[in-house]
Amino acid sequence: MKAIRVSEFGGPEVLRLEDVPDPRPGKGQVVITVKATGVNPVDAYIRTGAYGSRPMPYTPGTDAAGVVEAVGEGVTTFKPGDRVYTATTVTGAYAEKTLADAVQTFALPANLTFSAAAGINIPYATAYYALRYRANGLPGETILVHGASGGVGLAAVEIARALGFTVFGTASTEAGQRAARDSGAHEIFNHREAGYLEKAKSATPDGRGFNIILEMLANVNLGKDLTVLAPKGRVVVIGSRGPVQIDPREMMGRDAAIFGMSLFNATPTEIKVIHAALFAGLSNGTLHPLVGKELPLAEAARAHTDIMDEGGHVPGKIVLVP
Ligand code: NAP
Repeated sequence: MKAIRVSEFGGPEVLRLEDVPDPRPGKGQVVITVKATGVNPVDAYIRTGAYGSRPMPYTPGTDAAGVVEAVGEGVTTFKPGDRVYTATTVTGAYAEKTLADAVQTFALPANLTFSAAAGINIPYATAYYALRYRANGLPGETILVHGASGGVGLAAVEIARALGFTVFGTASTEAGQRAARDSGAHEIFNHREAGYLEKAKSATPDGRGFNIILEMLANVNLGKDLTVLAPKGRVVVIGSRGPVQIDPREMMGRDAAIFGMSLFNATPTEIKVIHAALFAGLSNGTLHPLVGKELPLAEAARAHTDIMDEGGHVPGKIVLVP
C-alpha cells in the first residue's frame, strides 16, 4: 500500500509517498481502509521535530476515517465493513490503510461522509475537552472563540451553541466569518481589525466581558484576552506559536484563570465521554464538520504548507484522500 513517510525532520518536502507493507491486526486492533485523513497543525509541528524524537521513518496523522477491513483477536466492537473514524492510530493515518487500537476507534454515524468524518477527532474532541474539562463551561455563559474559522474554532462554535452558550467568534476573511456564523456564532468580529476586542467586549451582556475565551493564537492574543474577561473569567490556551507578555494584574482584579491544555492529556474515560457526546451531536444533525479542502494523499506537503498559514485560509478542515 501507499503511505506518506517521514525519514528525517524538516520542511513539508520531507513528506514522501512510498510503498510500505499492508498492516495486520494484532490483539485488540483493527485495520482500516482509509477513505479520508484530517490534516492538523500538530502533524506539522511533529514533522519539524518540535515535539521531540520519533522512530524513523514514520507515517504522520491521527485522524483517519474509513472502513474496517480486518479485526484482531478479542475485538468484538467492530467487524469488517463497519464505517469508523480514529482518535489515534498505531501506524499513521496518512496512508491507504491504517492500524488502530479498537479502543481508539469509533463508529461513524451513517449521515456523515468520510471527508467530514476525518475532521471529527482533533478538532471536535479538542473543542469539547477545552469547554467541558478545562473551562468547566456552563450553559448561559458568554464565550469568545478566538479564531473561530479553523478546524477547532468551528467545532467549538457548534458545540458551545448546542450547549446553550452565547457564542462570539473571530475570523479574518468573509468566508471564515460566514462559516462561523453558519456554525452558530451569535456575533462575529475580525481579528485583523483595530479595536475589535474592545468592540466585542462592549457587545457582551452589560458589557461585562467574556466568561470564557478559547484561544487559538495565544502568543498574539493572551495579554489582550485578559482585559476583556468578565469576573471569574477563564482563558483556555488551545494554540500558541511563541512566547507572549501578560499583565498578571488583569487576572488578579477579576479572579481570572488561564488554563493550558493538550488533548493528549485527556484520560481514557474523558476520551470515551467526549466521543459519546460527539456521536450524539453528529448523528442527530447538531454537529457538521466542515471540509475546507480535499487534496490527494500524494499532496501531503501542500496540505502542511497550507495548514501552517497564519490565518486567512479557507475555513474548515484540510483533508487528504488516498
Ligand atoms: P486552523 O484550522 O489552521 O485554524 C487556525 C485559526 O486561527 C483560524 O480560525 C484563523 O483565523 C485563526 N487565527 C489566525 N490569526 C489569528 C489571530 N490573530 N487571532 C485569533 N485567531 C487567529 O487550526 P486548528 O486546527 O483550528 O488549530 C488552531 C490552533 O490550536 C493551532 O495552533 C493548533 O496547533 C492548536 N491545537 C491545539 C490542540 C491542543 O490539544 N492544545 C489541539 C488542536 C489544535 P483566520 O483564518 O480567519 O484568520
